[in-house]
Amino acid sequence: MRKLLVALAFLGLLGISPALAGGGSGIVEPRMTIAPGGAGGPRVAVTLDACDGRTDMRIVTMLIEERIPATIFATAGWIRSNPAALKLMLAHGDLFDIENHGARHVPAIDKPVRVYGLMTAGSPAGVTAEVQGGADAVARATGRRPVWFRGAAAQYTPSSLALIRSLGFKVAGYSLSGDEGALLGTRQAASRIAAARDGDVIIAHVNHPEKPAGAGVASGILALKARGFRFVKLDGSGVPAAGLATR
Ligand SMILES: [Zn+2]
Repeated sequence: MRKLLVALAFLGLLGISPALAGGGSGIVEPRMTIAPGGAGGPRVAVTLDACDGRTDMRIVTMLIEERIPATIFATAGWIRSNPAALKLMLAHGDLFDIENHGARHVPAIDKPVRVYGLMTAGSPAGVTAEVQGGADAVARATGRRPVWFRGAAAQYTPSSLALIRSLGFKVAGYSLSGDEGALLGTRQAASRIAAARDGDVIIAHVNHPEKPAGAGVASGILALKARGFRFVKLDGSGVPAAGLATR
């Protein structure tokens, strides 16, 4: 228990507020915000997970047309299966940062349990393989080594968080779930995102074109823009490092 408390205090120093999931399981889900826009007007960071499957062009096309930047968390598998979408994003490098969502989309948890039905990486070596394998895939496909990591299910143990950081990656939490794993309906997703507050880090999915949620993600982001929100990538200029989960 003492070890856990020390680890949680450590996370607090990083600006991450760990929300305990699964009551006593030792699994944490980091909450992360960016610094509010203040006098410059409200701002949010849109982060989109590309876990597997295909690409939701309802979202990607809207972002390009509206010149809205986003941070994409891609797995090695999504990169392999979506070369055209990746090429399009890279052609708009001012709008899209491609970051690391893992090699095999297994939760970066160093003990063998199931999270949302997914078997975890299961050991420190498994977490390392998931993180490094994903980073290698992003680097090969984009020519740029990712700096952010978000594991499948966005859950960790304090020890796996420390391991990921020791590998040189920042861990991307979030503060607003926009689509609940692409399971929300169109209107639900739209209203959730449209209700974002200044400084929110929004998470949604860009790999489920067959589901209704994506249309709501696109319209929710448009509603924020109409309200005067600005959008930044996690590593976007103008975001004070102090507002992020950095040392
Ligand atoms: Zn995912």
